[in-house]
Parts: sequence; structure tokens; C-alpha cells
Amino acid sequence: MALLALHGGAGGDGPWRGMTPMDPQRVACMQAILEDLGPRLESGELDALTAVRLAVEALEDEPGFNAGIGSVLDANGRVSMDASIMRGDDGAAGSVVGVTNLRHPIRAACGLLEQGWPAMMAGPGAEEWAAAQGYETVASEALVTELRTAQWRKWRDARLRPGATDEDDAALDHDLGEEVDGPGTVGAVALDARAKVAAATSTGGMTGKPPGRVGDTPIIGAGTWADPRVAVSCTGVGEAYLRACAAHEVGVGMRTEGANLAEVCEHVLDVVEPLGGRGGLIAVSADGQLALPFRVTLMYRGVWHNGTISTGIGPDSSEGQP
Ligand code: ASP
Repeated sequence: MALLALHGGAGGDGPWRGMTPMDPQRVACMQAILEDLGPRLESGELDALTAVRLAVEALEDEPGFNAGIGSVLDANGRVSMDASIMRGDDGAAGSVVGVTNLRHPIRAACGLLEQGWPAMMAGPGAEEWAAAQGYETVASEALVTELRTAQWRKWRDARLRPGATDEDDAALDHDLGEEVDGPGTVGAVALDARAKVAAATSTGGMTGKPPGRVGDTPIIGAGTWADPRVAVSCTGVGEAYLRACAAHEVGVGMRTEGANLAEVCEHVLDVVEPLGGRGGLIAVSADGQLALPFRVTLMYRGVWHNGTISTGIGPDSSEGQP
């Protein structure tokens, strides 16, 4: 059995208003990734770690998602990106923080995982290391899209408080109005043919974040976690996921014999939510359970399982929505 699940961020208040003009492109991107990687994961050609890295790389390439090209802009109108990746069977992990010129931050994070030490690098040091390893660099401006510039202007003009964990002030990019509505962080979790799991997450963070702000995404145990039993990728107001060590908490919950993954994930969101953690997570267990809970209006999500692909955005659990 193999399983691959993706997310493209979660957010929004109130009822889902249906697809935005960019949503078909986002859904098509998730579908193409699942069509390509799902069968290769099932056949054993890809292990879980490679599948989540490739999935997140492809999501970083889609300008409609907030990672790689299309990352949201900080208070100074600049891109700075975070990414992390973890392998379940040996707990190997890699993470980059605040990088501004890498085409695929997740590739550099995975390079650190494979190198074995250090597990985490930040800023110019991470960029220099990645360039020396031959990871593709780009001008930071090349990662900026019109959508994100419009979102940033709206954030600036509305004088929203950046990085706030309070629900009313949080400047999650999903919440900035229909015409510039955009989803967030991207992530993937996989279970491979050898019953091993892995997780990866990548983000531009939150619109208007102060330069230097670090969210949950690059923090192993907060935004990303994998152990022999479960792999987790989170999305939402990062400060709350950080304070709850949210992804790791799913791992703790799954240590109990016979634990139900959906229940464990809901319990973790019960802890995250009062801290202002509007968002969701995706998780897959080594025994084949899958959970994709979210506590906001929408979470872009897609699943490949047994040759079947399902994708969803809003809360509806009707046919086609995982
Ligand atoms: N968790 C991300 C962060 O706080 C944002 C998101 O998932 O939308 O940087």
C-alpha cells in the first residue's frame, strides 16, 4: 500500500465562497503531482522521502501557492522562505530558514538531511551553502508575482498587524479579499511501498511578517514531523503551531497502541486553536491511516491512494473531496 497527500495552505473565515479564478490552476497542479508521483510511490520506484521532496518542489514551482515562486512578501515587500523535511524511519531531518534566492528551498532542506549535519541552516549561510552544493539560485525578485504584490499592498494599506497570532489580526494571505485571495504554505506526507513515511513543508510565511520572523514551517516538530509511525505537515498561523509543537504532538499521540490518527489530529488542533492557530494539517500513518483536518474555511488538499486521486478546497466532504 502507498499513500501520498498534499496541502496548499489553509485559511479564511466564514463560509467558503467557492473557487477563485486561480483555483483551477492550483487544483490542476495538485492533480498533476499526484498522477505523476502516486504510481511511482506505489511501484517502489520512489521512497516516501523522495516523493514528498518532489511533490513540494512541484508545489514551489506553482505561482498560485505560497512557496518558492509566488511566496508572500514580508513587511519590506521582500521574499524570505522557510522549508523542512523529515524521514520517519531514522528521524533524519533538514531545514532552511529565511532564504531569499533559492528556486527550491525544499531541495536545500533535503540536501541537509542527506548530508546529516547541520540539520538546520538560516539566511545567508544557508544560501551560500546551497549555492556551493549546486542548488539553483535565482534573483529574489524573480520569485515575486503580481498576486503577491497586490496582496502586500492591500496588507500595507489596511495597516494589518503583521505576524499576529490573534485571529482578527492575523495577516494570513488567505484572508485578504476575494480578488487577491491566495492560499498558503505547501506540504506533503507519504507512505511508501515499504511502509516508511516522510513529511515536507515549504512556505513564504505570512504577508507583512517582520523581516527575521520564523514560523513553524522550518521547525522540526512544529510544522513538520516524521517518525516510524506517522508523518505530519502543518499549515496555519505559525506561532501557535510552534508553541504547541503541533506536528510532534501528533507523533506523541500515535505512540499509543491502536491510536486513531483522525482523533489524535483533532486533539492536537484542539490545543493549537486556542493559541490562535487557525489552520490545519495533513498526516499519514505507517499503518495506512490518513487525516486532513482543518479549522478554517478552506484547505487546499489532494490525495493519491490505490490509484484514485481526490482533491478538495472547501469544507465539503462530498465526492471528490478528501
Ligand atoms: N505556517 C506558516 C507560517 O506561519 C503559514 C501558513 O501555513 O500559511 O509561516
